Amino acid sequence: MNLNLYIKGKWHTPTNGQNREIVNPANGEVIFHTVDGNKDDVQAAIQAARSSFDQRDWPEMTSAQRSRLLMEVADRIEKQLDTLAELEMLDNGKPLHEAKIDVQDAADCFRYYASIIRKSNGKTFNPAPNLETVVVREPIGVCGLIVPWNFPLLMGVWKIAAALAAGNTIVLKPSEVTPITAVKLFEIFADTGFPAGVVNLVMGEGKIVGNELAISHDVDMVSFTGGTETVRQIMKAASGNLKKVSLELGGKSPNIIFADTDIELAVDYALYGIYYGAGQICSAASRILVEESIYDAFVDRFVARASKITVGPGNNPDTEMGPLVSEEHMQKVLDYIRIGQEEGARLACGGNRLRNTGLSAGYFVEPTAFIDVEQNMRIVQEEVFGPVVTIQKFTDETEAIELANGTRYGLAGAVFTNDGNRAWRVIKKIKAGITWINTYHENYYEAPWGGYKESGIGRSLSETGLDEFSELKQININLQPDMINWFRE
Ligand code: NAD
Repeated sequence: MNLNLYIKGKWHTPTNGQNREIVNPANGEVIFHTVDGNKDDVQAAIQAARSSFDQRDWPEMTSAQRSRLLMEVADRIEKQLDTLAELEMLDNGKPLHEAKIDVQDAADCFRYYASIIRKSNGKTFNPAPNLETVVVREPIGVCGLIVPWNFPLLMGVWKIAAALAAGNTIVLKPSEVTPITAVKLFEIFADTGFPAGVVNLVMGEGKIVGNELAISHDVDMVSFTGGTETVRQIMKAASGNLKKVSLELGGKSPNIIFADTDIELAVDYALYGIYYGAGQICSAASRILVEESIYDAFVDRFVARASKITVGPGNNPDTEMGPLVSEEHMQKVLDYIRIGQEEGARLACGGNRLRNTGLSAGYFVEPTAFIDVEQNMRIVQEEVFGPVVTIQKFTDETEAIELANGTRYGLAGAVFTNDGNRAWRVIKKIKAGITWINTYHENYYEAPWGGYKESGIGRSLSETGLDEFSELKQININLQPDMINWFRE
């Protein structure tokens, strides 16, 4: 399988890059070898994107043509759905049925952006009798897109589809842990006939490839999805030319459950909220807050059902939760479980790496829940990014809101109650960009995605996500030019 970089419309083998083993997290076996790009490769990709943008062959293509190409990408993704999903499962570990949803979503994302660029864009004002002002949107230029490993294809596509639709040229840097489906996507770009230099792919390490994109003065914008600590380095690197940064970061999202809710329903959503994707989801409901009077009953039902979740490899149709993405990441999650116990929290279920027959070589961790937790504990405050949840008790609405907002994150949050007024009251006080009432994880391209506080800057998806990849320009037109004589003749 071709696993090269894609620069200026050609496949490119890095000359002195480092070899990298790509591992199947379900069994620890090496499934592919890739070669990391180095600084020169990133520079070549940036220059390709720069000259393509400056020649204007992509930004000035008609919106009809651009839209047709993006639609074609969507069709080709759909035609290869099974292959792409299989590769995503092998690389990331997620169950095949989840990988299929991701690939379908990737196709739909291209269609969504292909369709909205045909709509009218901009505003007009008439601020004075003979002055007409037109506000237009223009592409920013070269966009460096840096993405994580939890939705390897989809997180890239959220950015690529919007950036291209807005008329930019791009350099994509996938996660070094999961680069495979990005290469397949670029095979699709190559077959679709994009002008050379519009789309470029450089795989490799964050510190080298990602940093070069952030530092380069020829890159006009960096759009990053990943961890809150990584982004501090990116923002420093990006300050050289004050490029625009758009950030989708981590979370520690609260799921508030009031006593008037049906417990079975609340447990059902709470399990989905945290264990979907093995908890490796930025918006995971990693803190469950339960009203005191139903706390014990809730914990009993939650533990009973969590303990029944079938953990296994993604290619087993019975699997409900896959492995963690890498040995390193599993170690981080197990460290947090140890830290939680050392802090004095009590395990209600899980807590161990799974060593059952057939699973011992993979990176499987039991669905885990902590009770007896305090708000200041690290397992309550820090993003674990694994199948680990804390279940806290609250006495009233005020305390629920205080606990919910009591971390540095503000990505997502939910409330479960049958009291409509309370649902609105509480959700409006949650400091988060993505919220739900009596549901969890629902996500549509029509709605903006992103966080408050340290969960991000800017929004993905929706028309706002398209605007994110553009500059605003005001054009003021004097309808009756006349001397103003501000300075005397
Ligand atoms: P990460 O921050 O370790 O890596 C993300 C990307 O940044 C990778 O491609 C990596 O190679 C690159 N990178 C690392 N160091 C860099 C540097 N110095 N300069 C430039 N690039 C660098 O994150 P991860 O472990 O891959 O993903 C998990 C994180 O992503 C979690 O915190 C999760 O919450 C977050 N995430 C957020 C969203 C969202 O929409 N808000 C979605 C998915 C994941």
